[in-house]
Amino acid sequence: MKIIADLDLCQGHAACQAEAPEVFTVPKHGHVEILDPNPSPDARAAIELAVRYCPTRALSVTDGDD
Ligand code: SF4
Repeated sequence: MKIIADLDLCQGHAACQAEAPEVFTVPKHGHVEILDPNPSPDARAAIELAVRYCPTRALSVTDGDD
């Protein structure tokens, strides 16, 4: 699993941080920072919620072997 954030779309709403704070952090007035770009499968449910609730659809998750 790999997380991709499109920083051109991110508007710093921090919905992602609310859903998965161990993976995403959003500084005040900034763009999302991915703390763990290759998180454990245990975090997957929270990450999928973060992707779903991002209001600007800036986040995506890919499945890969990397
Ligand atoms: S929820 Fe989306 S727009 Fe908001 S900080 Fe996270 S990635 Fe950016």
